[in-house]
Amino acid sequence: MNYIIDTIVAISTPPGYGGIGVIRISGNSVPTIIPKLLGKMIDPRKAEYLPFLDTDGFILEKVIALFFPEPNSFTGENILEIHGHGGQMILDILLERILKISSNIRIAHPGEFTKRAFLNNKIDLIQAEAIADIINASSYQAAKSASNTLQGAFSSKIHIISKKITNLRTHIEASIDFSEEATNVLPYNNVKKKLKNIINDIQQIYESTCHGVLLREGIKIVIAGNPNAGKSSLFNALIGIDRAIVSTISGTTRDTLHESIQLNREVTCHITDTAGLQKNSDNEIEQIGITRAWNELNNADHILWVIDSNDDSNRKCNITLEYVEEILFSKNKKIPITIIRNKSDLTKEEIGISKVNNYTCITLSALFDNGTDLLRNHLHNNIKYKKQKNYSYNLTENQGNYIARRRHLNALEKTSKYLLSAQNQLLSVMTIDELFAEDLVLAHNELNKIFGKFTSEDLLEKIFSTFCVGK
Ligand code: GDP
Repeated sequence: MNYIIDTIVAISTPPGYGGIGVIRISGNSVPTIIPKLLGKMIDPRKAEYLPFLDTDGFILEKVIALFFPEPNSFTGENILEIHGHGGQMILDILLERILKISSNIRIAHPGEFTKRAFLNNKIDLIQAEAIADIINASSYQAAKSASNTLQGAFSSKIHIISKKITNLRTHIEASIDFSEEATNVLPYNNVKKKLKNIINDIQQIYESTCHGVLLREGIKIVIAGNPNAGKSSLFNALIGIDRAIVSTISGTTRDTLHESIQLNREVTCHITDTAGLQKNSDNEIEQIGITRAWNELNNADHILWVIDSNDDSNRKCNITLEYVEEILFSKNKKIPITIIRNKSDLTKEEIGISKVNNYTCITLSALFDNGTDLLRNHLHNNIKYKKQKNYSYNLTENQGNYIARRRHLNALEKTSKYLLSAQNQLLSVMTIDELFAEDLVLAHNELNKIFGKFTSEDLLEKIFSTFCVGK
């Protein structure tokens, strides 16, 4: 089972100071390392409190040690876990001692323990990714969903579809043989029905996968508008701290500011405050800020267009919402926009939500943080996950229970493409032929890539390199 020669070691707890620090060692050499470090062999899966010895038998630290023999361990290899005090220096001393034992032992690469677990078939690639997602989860719901994914919530769905395709392929390949004795050749209508069923399954799983991606990545909300409309005040009110400078002097925000918040502990919103948009700024720094603001707008998932309800002066240099939409439209971007009618405390307008020319308009006072709850609820109920083209997905419509990545969406898109091509073959020639079978094979391969089958070393490298060392 162990085709990986090196034994790897890493401090698995984060750098800094803590109650305990854990060092993990995985590989063939573990059984020979244990007596050298701890003075004796230890029983599998039993915590023992032992001295951790230097080369000359001097006690460096007292530790709790745990031995997990292969294959019943996280990586599928022999693992030794050492729990000592959580100080960087003492952990470094223990690490150094372990590395000195043999030239076969080296520091683990980022994510290498998890990569070995994957290579030793302890987990599939979806679950390996979920481990990183649990660690990096930025909202309560993301953490819960990543845990579900690790326990197989997503993998099992893909397995079911993969099995259905295997089943269909078995029948199709038999029918292509035209073997007289073949007993499992399916009638044409049955094939059509089974294929349609698989296509529907993929569509459904695609939608919940979009939800999973949304949970993982969060949503980008850009606050924009003319100078002095109250964008920075709204930004501060939403994030709950005075982060952006608020001033009556126009053009105070020149660079873009970014902060993240949670909506109902469910989804992360990455909020960006931008420089006030205007047509003819002769200030070079302000111009740079405006260019940056446009870049942010182009990449937004949702725009909050702030207007000063107390200022109807309609200055020449002001930019209108229609103009912004025109620019975005010319770049093929259809981004949801909510109008924020700010400074309701001055105009005495009632705080609330209304419709203005098909836009949702929220009247509020950013300065007094009055009405921002309405905005938070509105965002939560209307957040859309945007696919590159026109598919959008509403957070509240489908409560998917697993986390997912764009890689999975791409694979599902390709699977779907080949299945639809197979369906077209079937409808056009009314027979089952090699081209149809070939499309099924291609669809199946794409789907199986989600688990990590047929996945290139490059992609694996890319995935695991984003993990932390020791995981
Ligand atoms: P920005 O240039 O769009 O970022 O606007 P700021 O947030 O810097 O605000 C410009 C001015 O409007 C500041 O003097 C703020 O105190 C004021 N302001 C912002 N929001 C409100 C509001 O809701 N009510 C009132 N009365 N003043 C506001």
